[in-house]
Amino acid sequence: MKFAIVSKGDERSNKIQATMKQHLIDFDLEYDETTPDLVISVGGDGTFLEAFHQYIHCLSRTSFIGVHTGHLGFYADWTPEEVEKLIIEIAKTPFQVVEYPILEVTIRDQDGGEENRFLALNEATIKTAEGSVVFDVEIKGSHFETFRGDGLCIATPSGSTAYNKALGGGIIHPSLEAIQLTEIASINNRVFRTIGSPLILPKHHTCMLKPIGQKKTFLIAVDHFTKNYSNVKSIQCRVAKERVRFARFRPFPFWDRVRDSFVADDDV
Ligand code: NAD
Repeated sequence: MKFAIVSKGDERSNKIQATMKQHLIDFDLEYDETTPDLVISVGGDGTFLEAFHQYIHCLSRTSFIGVHTGHLGFYADWTPEEVEKLIIEIAKTPFQVVEYPILEVTIRDQDGGEENRFLALNEATIKTAEGSVVFDVEIKGSHFETFRGDGLCIATPSGSTAYNKALGGGIIHPSLEAIQLTEIASINNRVFRTIGSPLILPKHHTCMLKPIGQKKTFLIAVDHFTKNYSNVKSIQCRVAKERVRFARFRPFPFWDRVRDSFVADDDV
């Protein structure tokens, strides 16, 4: 089996990276940064997102696992103290794989020229530095509402505990193939009206955002990357055909992870 390790880059993470790499090689596993079967991220959830995007071209064959060197991460859920146990588990391959849905975002420009396609593990957000964003929101080809406000967040089920949660979105179990659209400070008054509630869209229910009115530059974030886009004709969001694969070496049910991350310990 081929593996690679992505480190956050700080001293502690680099040290764990070096230890894991050496031990796994000693167990006859091959270190391969090009087409690994397993990618181990060492750092935090940000490092995990980084690892996911680094290996986005080989999602169908690569599985991910995260070790956290800071506070407990949502994706990075192995502690530095458990590394030895994890090395032995990895060496005993094959491992179990759990697949979660991810988000596909396609940005098309006005001239019908450029088309940019992205995959997100957590979410995409659309904002602007030029006042409010104004979009016609279409769902499955039908006009749903005209949104005016700070922006919109479109999250995956596993990303529903991240930015989406801070926006009042619901937490979705990742066994549900869906995406969630949440508003970022929508303007609601006698003139402008939006639904106001997060919308959960199943697979094949494509959501299309079409900027209207004055031409603006949009700040579109896909997970931890943000880029400016001008001349945008539409932003299409749907459940991607690709999925993310998590290597599972012990059971850690989603709801336990939610409880451990967000609800106080029983003994506190
Ligand atoms: P960061 O370092 O600011 O991390 C933000 C926090 O989000 C960290 O505590 C991280 O552990 C947590 N996080 C990331 N993914 C999570 C998930 N799926 N479930 C629960 N918590 C999760 O930024 P970063 O490391 O570059 O990560 C980018 C992510 O930050 C974005 O994908 C977005 O979800 C999140 N974010 C959150 C807010 C907010 O909550 N108000 C605002 C902006 C971005």
